[in-house]
Amino acid sequence: MQSVHSARRLGAIALCLLPFAAAAAKDTAIPPDISAQALELLKRSVGFKTVAGEGNVPAYAEYLAGELKAHGFAAGDVEIKPRGETATLTAVYHGTDPKAKPILLAAHMDVVVAKREEWERDPFTAVVENGYVYGRGTDDNKLGLVSMMAALHWLKQEGFKPRRDIVLALTGDEETTQTTTAALSKEWTNAELLLNSDAGGAYLGDDGKPTLYTMQAAEKTYMDFEITYTSPGGHSSRPGPDNAIYNLAHAIDKVAALRFPARISELTRAYFKAAGPITPAPIGPAMLRYEQHPDDKEAYELLASYPEYVGQLGTTCVATMARAGHAPNALPQSATVNINCRVFPGETVEFVQSTLTKAVDDPKAQFRLVNHPVPSDASPLRDDVMKALRKAIDLRAPGLPIVPSMSAGATDSLYYRNLGVPCYGVSGIFMAAKDNFAHGLNERVPVATIDGAVIQWRSLIKDLSR
Ligand SMILES: [Zn+2]
Repeated sequence: MQSVHSARRLGAIALCLLPFAAAAAKDTAIPPDISAQALELLKRSVGFKTVAGEGNVPAYAEYLAGELKAHGFAAGDVEIKPRGETATLTAVYHGTDPKAKPILLAAHMDVVVAKREEWERDPFTAVVENGYVYGRGTDDNKLGLVSMMAALHWLKQEGFKPRRDIVLALTGDEETTQTTTAALSKEWTNAELLLNSDAGGAYLGDDGKPTLYTMQAAEKTYMDFEITYTSPGGHSSRPGPDNAIYNLAHAIDKVAALRFPARISELTRAYFKAAGPITPAPIGPAMLRYEQHPDDKEAYELLASYPEYVGQLGTTCVATMARAGHAPNALPQSATVNINCRVFPGETVEFVQSTLTKAVDDPKAQFRLVNHPVPSDASPLRDDVMKALRKAIDLRAPGLPIVPSMSAGATDSLYYRNLGVPCYGVSGIFMAAKDNFAHGLNERVPVATIDGAVIQWRSLIKDLSR
């Protein structure tokens, strides 16, 4: 009797689980043509040298528009708007309910400059090698862009009908002036929410298994300051005590030694709390100590020594460019350094500038704010978003911890957040921190992450557009 009962009970449980298992299997079974398409789109995308000033974004947008139209988007629903030398592209996947607010899928088409002579391979020819796709923009942000596109093509192929409009919203100067973001965001202030492929993602451990998924729900404010020294100049055979380059060098030393106050927010606290227990010593325990006591100097200094954590501890400022002098045989008349700051939410321009000014402590130094900072609040951790993300991540790595986080960089999301649209960085890229070369040399993404990224995007888009 008992065994019959157990068998029946097991049978009932198995029956219950069957539809879920079947659904999950369908959701992870990426069609071979979609998988091949994602890789091909990425390789072709790298070939468009979409760096600022070269005017190649419109041609890249034309290529993407052609692909969207070839995969089910009506010509009238794909729009390229030229904006200066660059452009934006939007593609609307129509929903059934015209009253429902649209969801936006964000990525940028432009990339950071890359010099052939500094790279091992041509940065603008995609190379698949050692399990990676190498090329400028692979990580930032062309895989994000094409994995969202491939997911949309997959949904079109299977005849998915969303309730809300799904809008692919691509910008063309995210890495530089973000004028395309400023313009495009103003056209979509009615959006329900925005999913950004340019932030978030999972870290892989040394064994190649994901350890943590971070979802970006806030970001720091981007500020550039210039520090300039001037001096009288003259013939270089007659050096005097006042030299703009020497003066600037002393100031730069002081900026290099400057630490902004340790800060913690609800989001960074949640991040350290979740990451601490699964991060190897000494970093993990330091995260937990810092989360409990942000004034723990030792924990702070340890974390601050890692580029991947320093941005979570407070504002950072760093020298990024310098220009000085006008001739090899003349004393310099001016010397300028650009100091790029990533400012913790809540800290103002005035505070950052006065902190820099105090650190340099020299009335001869002239400070200038270069950009127009766009502050943005954290987005609320919505239930629908967290649930959809949990489900999408479980398709790739069941149970992987998901941690809301503040991004230390600046993305398109800040303009939308500034206008009241909640934004979530939910990149599909799973990658080891040691492989992260975004903006740097020999940028790459693992080939193995591409299919998973498309699977994740399809699931997220389906659930949040219902
Ligand atoms: Zn980016």
